[in-house]
Amino acid sequence: MIVKKAKRLAPVLNEYIASKILGEVDNLTPNQIEYIVTRGGRAVIPEISRLYNASVKLGREDLVSILRYTWNTQGPKGFLECPRCGFKAISPDRSCIVCGTVVTDEYLRKALGFSEKFEVFLKSASVAELNEVLNHGYVLVGEKGVYNPRSSRARIENPVVYIVYLRKEELSRIVEEVNTRELPI
Ligand SMILES: [Zn+2]
Repeated sequence: MIVKKAKRLAPVLNEYIASKILGEVDNLTPNQIEYIVTRGGRAVIPEISRLYNASVKLGREDLVSILRYTWNTQGPKGFLECPRCGFKAISPDRSCIVCGTVVTDEYLRKALGFSEKFEVFLKSASVAELNEVLNHGYVLVGEKGVYNPRSSRARIENPVVYIVYLRKEELSRIVEEVNTRELPI
C-alpha cells in the first residue's frame, strides 16, 4: 500500500526536487542536468533555454530530445517551430525562446501558411478593416488566420500572434479589393 502510494507520488516529488535544484544551483553538474531533464517533468519548462544550452554543451542529444518532447507536448501552445532546434518556440519578436535563432520573414510566412490565410482575409474583411491595413502596412497573423492591426479578436482566438508586414503586391491587392467593393455612383 505504502509502496503503491510512493510510486504514485514519485513524479510529483521529482518535479519538486528538480525545480528546487534549478532555483538554488547556478552551475549544474552533468548528473543534476540528467536528473532534471529525465525526471523533472514540467519543471524544465520555465528553464528550457538554460537546460537546452547545458545539454548541447554536454553533447547529450538524447537529453535535448527529451526536452524537446516535454516542451512541445506540455509547454506553451501556439508558437511556431524553430528551424534550428525543432522546439515550438518562435516568439512574436521572431526569435527562438530556446536557442535564440531569429527566423526570416520568408520562414515566418511559410510556417504560418500566410498566403492562404491572406486570401481568406482579403475576401472576408470589411472595407474599414482593409483600409486600416493600408494605413498601417501590416497584419496580425495567428493559427486561426489573418487579422487587421487593431483587431481584438486576434489575441482572443490565438495564443500567439505574429506581425507580418505586407509586400507591395499584397498592398496593391487590398487596394483592388477595396475598389471592387465601392459601388459606382
Ligand atoms: Zn530554436
